[in-house]
Amino acid sequence: MNALAATSRNFRQAARILGLDSKLERSLLIPFREIKVECTIPRDDGTLVSYVGFRVQHDNARGPMKGGIRYHPEVDPDEVNALAQLMTWKTAVANIPYGGAKGGIGCSPRELSKSELERLTRVFTQKIHDLIGTNTDVPAPDMGTDAQTMAWILDEYSKFHGHSPAIVTGKPLDLGGSLGREAATGRGVVFATEALLAEYGKSIKELTFVVQGFGNVGSWVARLIHERGGKVIAVNDITGAIKNPNGINIPFLLKFKEETGNLKGFPGGDSMDPNELLTHECDVLIPCALGGVLNRENAVDVKAKFVIEAANHPTDPEADEILSKKGVVVLPDIYANAGGVTVSYFEWVQNIQGFMWDEEKVNDQLQRYMTRAFENIKSMCHSHNCSLRMGAFSLGVNRVARATLLRGWEA
Ligand code: GLU
Repeated sequence: MNALAATSRNFRQAARILGLDSKLERSLLIPFREIKVECTIPRDDGTLVSYVGFRVQHDNARGPMKGGIRYHPEVDPDEVNALAQLMTWKTAVANIPYGGAKGGIGCSPRELSKSELERLTRVFTQKIHDLIGTNTDVPAPDMGTDAQTMAWILDEYSKFHGHSPAIVTGKPLDLGGSLGREAATGRGVVFATEALLAEYGKSIKELTFVVQGFGNVGSWVARLIHERGGKVIAVNDITGAIKNPNGINIPFLLKFKEETGNLKGFPGGDSMDPNELLTHECDVLIPCALGGVLNRENAVDVKAKFVIEAANHPTDPEADEILSKKGVVVLPDIYANAGGVTVSYFEWVQNIQGFMWDEEKVNDQLQRYMTRAFENIKSMCHSHNCSLRMGAFSLGVNRVARATLLRGWEA
């Protein structure tokens, strides 16, 4: 099922649980604005190449729209739309004063040079600069983009609007970024995992973990689990997959990856078929990469007891049903990976205050927000006797619906 169909299905189910008016339900689903722009840049050899860029602004009832910009070959309008919608529910679940948005450019960032990426980012910013803003829509990094990408957006935007540090989050520290932002999604995933495991009387240090994806999120998740004494027994990235039943030495692996750029060839584990990673024997499976990786085909073979959705929509609805029948507990994306946007919010607040927090404050506040959101989800689950996914969706949708009605929405 495609990402938009899957996300909208979850939304509709939550709307039914909440007994939402059908017109309000329809209106909440339709994006506020969808932007599609053509970005033509000269490659380093002088030839021209065109890319299509998107920004979908889904909802702003609770505040400025917020969400990442993704550079990936699979970026398409439906996918960006689904991700923008997920951001609306995610910011509401985290209870930060934002709506939801997402952007993307259909390109392969690994095949572009740094100066080509800079030109592409600047052209994209030129095309959308009058539709984003500190109090309108605030971009951030996502797959294939990073703090450097945000620095280019900030610089290009500032040419039109003057210096505006709060126009993007996930910036480099020297340009007003927040301490702790780079690790925030991964750290939030680990706080969320701890909150969930505590419900089952378990803790990270007694369990085994499989981490799928070793980019920004996956590598931080693995590092923090390792620090807490958990055993990461398998990981992968696009260069290969490795396993070690005694637990991979993650600091050693991080060093290896930094030096070689690969996981492949790591001497501290055996290589394995990446297709077997998701169904590898473990206690906790953490998908940290693309959407839709758990589907009808492989869900029956999942051996983990817990799935923590660090990626956005890694589990399609069919897999969700299969996992639930098997008794696998799934911690949904709109909660599990909300740490990134939560620290983005702290960054935006610091920019507006003109005051920088220390890292301890950032991490303490992050833990507070993640723990509180889990308590809120749990009480939704109790009142509606539903799964964690529906608990999170109904919590988020209810907050957005309430804000919409308070503003004076008329049927
Ligand atoms: N791209 C991240 C997400 O999907 C962070 C978004 C943000 O910080 O605005 O949640």
